[in-house]
Amino acid sequence: MSSRRVLLKLSGEALMGKKGYGLDPEVLTDLARQIYNVSNEDIQIAIVVGGGNIFRGLSGVALGMDRATADHMGMLATVINALALQDALERRGVQTRVQTAIEIREVAEPYIRRRAIRHLEKGRVVIFAAGTGSPYFTTDTAAALRAAEIGADVIFKATSVDGVYNADPKLNPGAVKFDKLKYMDVLKEGLSVMDTTAISMCMDNKIPIVVFSLLEPGNIEKALKGEKVGTLVY
Ligand code: UDP
Repeated sequence: MSSRRVLLKLSGEALMGKKGYGLDPEVLTDLARQIYNVSNEDIQIAIVVGGGNIFRGLSGVALGMDRATADHMGMLATVINALALQDALERRGVQTRVQTAIEIREVAEPYIRRRAIRHLEKGRVVIFAAGTGSPYFTTDTAAALRAAEIGADVIFKATSVDGVYNADPKLNPGAVKFDKLKYMDVLKEGLSVMDTTAISMCMDNKIPIVVFSLLEPGNIEKALKGEKVGTLVY
């Protein structure tokens, strides 16, 4: 039987921990430990990292910047995060490769789908950086795209909330958490799971999404091992 192939989406904020900006070394070390702990399981892990802890295109636009330029800056921010994650993982003894959608050849491999798959088959964790390589997209959409391209069985989206709710649980204490729900319901209700481009891409390609909290200790390890966490969107 072939092993499970999963795509883990880590937002930039996930790497920031409780800090207001940038990277938290403790969070990186903990992430690396959890991924190391599943590295002997029969599971292939690809990661898409965001960049929101450093720069978001739309915040540049709010300051009057050109959208495409601001988005290029956002994509470069994801490369910084990918390198930090790679460093933390390799220090823990996990073999990794970073592939970037925008070529930065001195720093990382360019994104080559078949090569990424080969790395996964060899047990390396592949970190995809620079999103889709195009402005006007998000790293959630990059996660959906890469998951489809590499034939991932599932996307694990780590967030600061422990699943999908019918209202924002941080603002509304009566908000109810869904155990599972359909892509179409996410789109119709405008629930905050991923942006609509990412959700429709997952829907069209039948890639389930598990939304779960990164803040609960050990949750990434649990999710990667296939234990039940968060909300399933299918
Ligand atoms: N971005 C982009 N194209 C992509 C992915 C990302 O232009 O395919 C830019 C965009 O400006 C975005 C930034 O990179 O704001 C950081 O990505 P994102 O906001 O998705 O990161 P996250 O919210 O996951 O930390």
